[in-house]
Amino acid sequence: MAGGATDAALAEPIRVAVPAAAAEPATVAAPVSIIVPFAAGGPTDAVARALAAAMHEATGQHFRVHNRAGAGGTRGAAEVARAPADGRTLLLHHIGMATAPALYRTLPFDPGRDLVPIGQVVDVPMTVVVPAGHGLQSGPGLPVRLRAAADALVLGYAGPGAASHLCGLLLAGALGRDLIQIPYGGTGPALRDLEAGRIDLMCDQTTNTAAPIREGRLVALGVTSPRRLPGLPRVPTLAEAGFHGFDLSIWHGLYAPRGVSPAVLDTLVRALQAGLASARFRAAMASVDVLVAAPEAATPAALAALLQRETARWSPILRRAGHHAD
Ligand code: ASP
Repeated sequence: MAGGATDAALAEPIRVAVPAAAAEPATVAAPVSIIVPFAAGGPTDAVARALAAAMHEATGQHFRVHNRAGAGGTRGAAEVARAPADGRTLLLHHIGMATAPALYRTLPFDPGRDLVPIGQVVDVPMTVVVPAGHGLQSGPGLPVRLRAAADALVLGYAGPGAASHLCGLLLAGALGRDLIQIPYGGTGPALRDLEAGRIDLMCDQTTNTAAPIREGRLVALGVTSPRRLPGLPRVPTLAEAGFHGFDLSIWHGLYAPRGVSPAVLDTLVRALQAGLASARFRAAMASVDVLVAAPEAATPAALAALLQRETARWSPILRRAGHHAD
């Protein structure tokens, strides 16, 4: 699902089916750009490319994915916040939209004000992984074994404010020991270093870790979901391994810049819903234990409510812990 920038542009309007009596749907001049605020080859990129292909197949509209990595996803998000509100530039981002306001003292955009939610896209569990041959194994007493590891543990993550950063902060907090944290532009480059054994540890989405775990290139110490995953049945939950209160799911949403017209927003919601209904998209997501948003979650109101709830959940936790990204 990963690779270079997708370029499948045709000067065609979105062709979303509408009831015969309804007005013609607003059109968005092609191409529509989807900004992924992380490097190519990572989970957000993988979801964006699969969604872009599914929305194209369902509507005829073409979508291009562009990677704008940096500052844990906040650089790309800020770029979309400043883009013209014509429906031609969208943002696909994750839980980082809810954690950035607490982590950054100077954030160049306001997630709740400068971006208009289109709808939720997917929910992705995370995995704590080490390279094959590292020596650490999953199983009970994991916190004790991690705490006792004599050497410094080096954790890779996708920049301050990324989901992997959030998970790393929770891990370090639960362990009560420092981890040396190395930031990357995204999971893609970080995972390459992990597989090569240049770093010790990552906590990242199943979108990209499921295959290397199954193929034995990575060893999974635990999943962040409350139950084991159907695709990784032998990997214990972090709760089984001895970590408590670690229920972490990485929800992703699609956004447009503030000021987009209601008609264009409506067209984009229909395109998103059509893409999420695609059998190919659903099968690709299911194969890596990713939950596709239900139609009632893939709406502006549902994503706005989720963003608000999650901001309210994470801000006090991050502020209490005194975590800052800048
Ligand atoms: N999974 C990354 C994160 O930690 C971002 C990415 O590359 O998709 O947020």
